[in-house]
Amino acid sequence: MAILIVDDSADSRALIKRLLEKHGLGDILIAESATDAFALLGLDHPVCLAENIELILMDGVMPGIDGIKACGLIKSHACFKDVPIIVITASDDAETLEKAFAAGAMDFITKPVKQLELKARVNSALNMKHAIDQRKAREAELVKVLEELEGLNRELSRLSSLDGLTGIANRRHFDQIFEMEWRRAIRAGHDLSIVFLDIDFFKYYNDTYGHQEGDDCLKKIAVAAGSVLKRPADLLARYGGEEFVIILPETGVDGAYEVAQQIRSAIEMCNIPHSASQIADHVTVSIGVAGGKISLADKSQELIALADKALYEAKNGGRNQVRVAGAVS
Ligand code: GH3
Ligand code: MG
Ligand code: MG
Repeated sequence: MAILIVDDSADSRALIKRLLEKHGLGDILIAESATDAFALLGLDHPVCLAENIELILMDGVMPGIDGIKACGLIKSHACFKDVPIIVITASDDAETLEKAFAAGAMDFITKPVKQLELKARVNSALNMKHAIDQRKAREAELVKVLEELEGLNRELSRLSSLDGLTGIANRRHFDQIFEMEWRRAIRAGHDLSIVFLDIDFFKYYNDTYGHQEGDDCLKKIAVAAGSVLKRPADLLARYGGEEFVIILPETGVDGAYEVAQQIRSAIEMCNIPHSASQIADHVTVSIGVAGGKISLADKSQELIALADKALYEAKNGGRNQVRVAGAVS
């Protein structure tokens, strides 16, 4: 990073440059006028060049645009906000200094420039600049880490709501969404239905084909059931083991029965061989449906119990069928 000297006097430029070099500050840029400086700084450039400059030493009095005005113009560019400008002035009267500070100068040095003063003021300006740069780098790093953390949190919360085997919603997510939809149904006066699905003779399936095949079968069932659902608010979840549940918001029992039948037949159409089933040669499911209008006095667990009861009836009625329970109240 360079120090930019802006001065119309060749002698002055040479003197300041020599003094800076004496202090080991060798990276120096020279501008003979404010306009020169603007070009060097790339003030009209679409890409900010402030990164290359760590300090500007600006002669206060120059023909054309004077140093104080130039200081104001540079500082009006947001990217030069943190680049310190020291105004070098022959007159240190209050009015001149006030103008310089108002224009954004950070400090001033009186002419003729004295070695000690220049060294002290340049050092303190550079220290400040380095401290700001370090703080900004730390802030940028922090923002990056926070963004990464946010991404990880989102991913974590997504994963924590999914069933590891089938990739559909898990029981935890179902519980959350069901309570939410329950309250929404009460508020809006909408219907709400629940569909419970259980694979028929799945224990025999595992016994016959092995647990691995059993897992694959669960995945296929999840895909088949999910393919039937069309509305974004419908939610298919793995309730546990070989039981699945579907939330159908704004859907009455008739509609839910339709969906359940489509799911039952979609699973049959998969034609997954099940030689140990007592009712077919392929995998079938039994389904219980409950739903309707929900009122404030109803309990969400009652709807679940009803759907479960309907499922039990489907099992008792011979399996591979859909049974419907009424509304909660
Ligand atoms: P029913 O027709 O009455 O539903 O009989 P079923 O054999 O399907 O029911 P049961 O409840 O007796 O057995 C359920 C079986 O589901 C037993 C269990 O090993 C199996 N199961 C539960 N979770 C998993 C799983 O994640 N993977 C596999 N492969 N099997 C599972
Ligand atoms: Mg079961
Ligand atoms: Mg079963």
